[in-house]
Amino acid sequence: MPQDYHIARERMVNEQLVSNGIVDPRVIDAMRDVPRHLFVDAELGPQAYSDHAFPIGYSQTMSQPFMVAFLAEQLALTGREQVLEIGTGSGYQAAVLARLAGHVYSIERIEALATRAADVLGSLEIQNIQVLIGDGSTGWPEFQPYDRILTTAAAAEVPQSLLMQLRDGGAFLGPVYNKAGEQEIVRLTRNGQEFGLERLRKCSFVPLVREESEKAAKDPRTQ
Ligand code: SAM
Repeated sequence: MPQDYHIARERMVNEQLVSNGIVDPRVIDAMRDVPRHLFVDAELGPQAYSDHAFPIGYSQTMSQPFMVAFLAEQLALTGREQVLEIGTGSGYQAAVLARLAGHVYSIERIEALATRAADVLGSLEIQNIQVLIGDGSTGWPEFQPYDRILTTAAAAEVPQSLLMQLRDGGAFLGPVYNKAGEQEIVRLTRNGQEFGLERLRKCSFVPLVREESEKAAKDPRTQ
């Protein structure tokens, strides 16, 4: 019998999002509309709406629905923004953001994931997303400045090159390790060369891989 995913989505919205404090109606509508099950393997379909992160292969995960909605809400998008996302993964968060922003640029370092995400996004005819295969820790300079930059992988510290690609008044959002070694979602709002810091909530994400800095560390010429 074909699954009724509308019911699964409505339940997800009510039981996981609204009941846990998500209030932005645009975010709620986007979460109600984007078919999350298409971003996981077909045989896992209905489970995609359950209240946890989901494996997407290559030791990576698609974030829990609440976290996707929380990040989208905290980005405070009005529909015009240029958004850079680091960590396309399944492409689901990017699809939600595309409903809320002007354009989404999303970077994924694992080629197979980036290709699969781009295929799903293409099949949904979402026009305002571009996916790039590569190391997103250095950003995507070609389309800067961005109004918002989101990382969906945890960094020891926010890469300076990302912050420099933010528009003045724009904001970075993403998981960062604190001094106690725990991850927390932080928001850094740019004011000239200064960045106002807000710590929003504890979280658990896969690590942000920093290929450029690792290469530099291994290269004896840089020592
Ligand atoms: N936003 C994704 C979604 O909706 O499915 C979930 C992302 S998953 C938690 C984190 C992703 O970040 C992984 O796919 C991982 O390969 C990617 N990643 C980690 N470091 C990266 C980097 N330096 N550049 C680009 N992608 C990176």
